[in-house]
Amino acid sequence: MNAYERLLLENKAWAVEKVADDPEYFSRLAHLQTPEFLWIGCSDSRVPANEITGTQPGEIFVHRNIANMVVHTDLNLLSVLDYAVEHLKVKHVIVCGHYGCGGVKAAMTQHNFGIINKWLRNIKDVYRFHREEVDSIPDMEERTNRLVELNVQEQVINLAKTSIIQKAWKEFQRPHLHGWVYGLKDGLIKPVFDMPPGTHIDEIYEFDDL
Ligand code: ZN
Repeated sequence: MNAYERLLLENKAWAVEKVADDPEYFSRLAHLQTPEFLWIGCSDSRVPANEITGTQPGEIFVHRNIANMVVHTDLNLLSVLDYAVEHLKVKHVIVCGHYGCGGVKAAMTQHNFGIINKWLRNIKDVYRFHREEVDSIPDMEERTNRLVELNVQEQVINLAKTSIIQKAWKEFQRPHLHGWVYGLKDGLIKPVFDMPPGTHIDEIYEFDDL
């Protein structure tokens, strides 16, 4: 059997099992999704949002990219964010990084990764903002892991810089923004940063007319 055929077979077994447990399962989900959470995570195959949070289909709206970045020119991210906040009315947006992130590790080198350089540049900027703190850590693994945490923090702040979040905060006092880091070694999530609705950021980023 080809590897991809296994996926299709597993899918059939899964669908049968779901209907056996709950005959209305698919017809209910097909009509409506009302997730409370938007998850912005890393594309890394070891960090599946639903599985590590014990949530079901329909509970989390998910966007993933290399190193869970919130880049203000990324039309994909902005469209997902706008849809989640404006239409799905999510109450929480979670940026979830993970220790040992390959994207963060790559950004800390001078290696030329071709087209990925442009994406990693955003992480290099985070490193530059926090260079003093990061460079003061002697152990390389710990240094990378601290940058993972700081990167999550900066991406949460990047969310707060968007007019999408500022407008929702002003009008609806939601969503709450969270920065989390997942541990590949123990499976545990550590909250590292948090911005409740209405949190002020550097005023140069705050729009006066929303
Ligand atoms: Zn990663």
